[in-house]
Order: sequence, then structure tokens, then C-alpha cells
Amino acid sequence: MLKYPADLLKLMGLFKKLPSVGGKTAERFAFQLLNWSEDQLKEFSYHLAVLKEKIKSCPECFCIMQEETCPFCQDTQRDKSLLCVIASPKDAYALEETHTFQGLYHVLGGLLSPLEKKHPEQLHLEALKKRLSILSVKEVIIALDSTLEGDATALYLKELLTSQGITASRLAFGLPIGSSLEYVDGGTLARALSGRQTF
Ligand SMILES: [Zn+2]
Repeated sequence: MLKYPADLLKLMGLFKKLPSVGGKTAERFAFQLLNWSEDQLKEFSYHLAVLKEKIKSCPECFCIMQEETCPFCQDTQRDKSLLCVIASPKDAYALEETHTFQGLYHVLGGLLSPLEKKHPEQLHLEALKKRLSILSVKEVIIALDSTLEGDATALYLKELLTSQGITASRLAFGLPIGSSLEYVDGGTLARALSGRQTF
């Protein structure tokens, strides 16, 4: 059986590491790149090469930022007494689209999951505790997936917050159990945000 050239195979292997890219798609991507001009390929590889250098994680909220400027922490218009806890930096973008949230974010970097061995010390919880006192936070909105892991993490946070006298509320999902924030449309998310409930 004829095999693809080694460097093309290597590229396919890399594409397959991306979410929802299987073998057939990886092949299509790799062959497509062969049709690109030298300039287009250079541009593509440049952005890959500088990705980690240009896109950084904010040391305060762990959202992503272009070089040193956090779009949230460095915005003086935002309400620092209101914090929204999210699992991944991507979630902030979904919530921003609703135009209903004016506070700051805190990215946990995952959800608690005993099965996948994700424990509290692996999340950005120590940083959260520090921010709660530094920013004099009054309310924390927990915006986590409506899954087992999301629920477990929300419960953990609730205990941490109420022990410090901070109001904890959770998005009022009008959604089936198991839904991920990533796939919720803007309208539903805006309703979930305004209808959040203290728990
Ligand atoms: Zn930040």
C-alpha cells in the first residue's frame, strides 16, 4: 500500500490532535495546505510560532490577553466587587456577548473531577481567595457547565464563598443537565445571567 510522504503524514498527525478532527479531515487539511502559496504558509506558521509569546494568560484573572493588557482587569469601568467564575478563558467571550455582565472574571482552569483526577489544588482557587479580599468582592456568579463536574465545582465554591460571607449565585440555566456553556446561545445565556439565583 502506498504511504503518504513522511512530512505530510507528520502534518496529518498534528491536525488529528485538534478537537473533532479525524483521519479523513486531517488528510483534507494537509492536502489543502499543499495548494497554499509560500506566503500564505509563512503567515500561517508565523502565527503558530508566536502564539504563546503574544497571547498570554492574565496573572490576576487567568483570562487570555494580547501581550500584557488584560481586557478585563485593566478596564477601570468594570465593577470589581462582582466576580464571575468560569472554567475556561473562552467562556468569558460567550458571557461578554450577552452585554449583561459588567464585573470581572476568574478562570478556574477546569472543573473538579475525581475521575479525571482534577482536584481543588489544580484549579486557580488560591488566586481566587486572594482576589476576593483584595477586590472586596460582594457577589460571585458561578458560571459553570450544568454537568456533574460543574455541579461539584459549584458546590465546592459555594462553601468557600459563604464561609467568607460572600453572596454566591449560579446561572439560572433553563437548560437540560449536561449542557456546556460553550454551546449555549447568547439569548439563553443572557437570561441565565439575569435570572441567576443565590444558592
Ligand atoms: Zn485579567
